[in-house]
Amino acid sequence: MIPGYIKKTLKVLSDAGFESYVVGGAVRDTLRGVPVHDYDVTTSALPDQTKAAMEQAGFKTIIDSSARYGTVVFINPGVPEEKIEITTFRSDNGYSDCRHPDSVRFTTSVKEDAARRDFTVNALYMDAEGNITDPNGGGEADIKEGIIRAVGDPVRRFEEDALRILRAVRFEAQTGFVIEENTARAMKETKDLLKNISAERIFSEFTGIVTAANGPMAIRHNLEVISVIIPELLIQDGFDQLSRYHDRDLLTHTLDVLDGVPVEQDGKKDTAIAIAALIHDIGKPAVFTIDENGVGHMKKHSIAGVKIAERIADELKFSNQLKHEVTELVLYHDSFPEPERKAVKVFASIFGFDLLEKLFVLQRADIAAHSPLGLGRMELLGKIIEVYKQIREEDPCMSIRQLAISGGDLMEMGYPEGPMIGAILKDVLEQVMLETLPNEREDIVRYVTGEYLL
Ligand code: ATP
Ligand code: MG
Repeated sequence: MIPGYIKKTLKVLSDAGFESYVVGGAVRDTLRGVPVHDYDVTTSALPDQTKAAMEQAGFKTIIDSSARYGTVVFINPGVPEEKIEITTFRSDNGYSDCRHPDSVRFTTSVKEDAARRDFTVNALYMDAEGNITDPNGGGEADIKEGIIRAVGDPVRRFEEDALRILRAVRFEAQTGFVIEENTARAMKETKDLLKNISAERIFSEFTGIVTAANGPMAIRHNLEVISVIIPELLIQDGFDQLSRYHDRDLLTHTLDVLDGVPVEQDGKKDTAIAIAALIHDIGKPAVFTIDENGVGHMKKHSIAGVKIAERIADELKFSNQLKHEVTELVLYHDSFPEPERKAVKVFASIFGFDLLEKLFVLQRADIAAHSPLGLGRMELLGKIIEVYKQIREEDPCMSIRQLAISGGDLMEMGYPEGPMIGAILKDVLEQVMLETLPNEREDIVRYVTGEYLL
């Protein structure tokens, strides 16, 4: 089960007289019977001793953060993708920033090392033969029963490092495990400490949660924690849209939409689609009105939603690309072109093919989470996708780059350098996309010279 280079690492360390184990996610996932994505090794050897033993065995040190965390990363020079992270047993002291230990103390006691780890299911140690050591006790049972339980006093552990609060939610989202009661209560109690955690760390846990198969359930169970990141989600809980098109409250609808976003080959959902699904209706409560018949209306909720989406994107430091995709998906989640060539082409030109396909995935999940009356649009979406597929197959001209004429060509024809060139190209593209002009050089030259006098 353990790959050869990790077994070799364990042997190198034990031959040098030290205790060493695989620890953390690799053990947890091995015992759960799911694929392991990376192996962390831990040892009683001090970092210098680890380095000496590993280098003598032919491994190369590539990262040395031993002074701060006791971690050294090696590669097998012959096989550089075989990376090995080795951390010395340690116990952590003081967490004045709610995230990093003020100092770490190396120890030769695996029991002390286990006590500083976050959850019992993450504090199991496996030797080269696959034997498990469980110094805290209860970790193996928690894996069998599917329980996430803090090691030690949960409130204290979350006060030390508030990121653990979100890690618990992520592990629930990824494993489907249930967070033990005292741990869950402590998470709620300490949730506001998440404000001390850097945007990058929050972003990485948050995307881990929304893209995981059990994300919707984990978000519902931990709504108060998640609302530290997106406060607008709280009011969705129990929110009745007073609409015949909806048969469930807004939060349930939202989480059903997220649930309907399929996981991809890597077992995760697309990040942009998943985030957009979670916040596609986030603007609804703000624009909600009830008419004289008692029917709810949420006009322009997509526009209200985009403003909130932009704020979330900035707070969590999304990349420009992710921010663009999420805000476009939120803005257009409720927009459907006529199911005919020209309209779909124009629609496609707004997004580009890749983002349009993401929009279709979101729309399908959204429609499916409506009342039977609201399901009617599924047929329309199906037709739109049919038309789209045909257009895509033809590989049509969708961008200025694909035009049979360039800005340089226009200048050779005598048009002056400057904004006019761009304007002409944009017009030509529109004509080509609307199929009123073929994407052929001669036709375009004739059109331009007719329309734009020199
Ligand atoms: P995965 O890699 O699947 O996200 P993991 O459990 O391996 O899960 P890592 O972040 O790789 O998580 O950390 C490895 C181990 O280090 C964890 O299993 C846990 O024992 C310990 N650990 C990581 N972060 C913390 C933390 N913030 N507080 C306490 N222990 C932690
Ligand atoms: Mg890991």
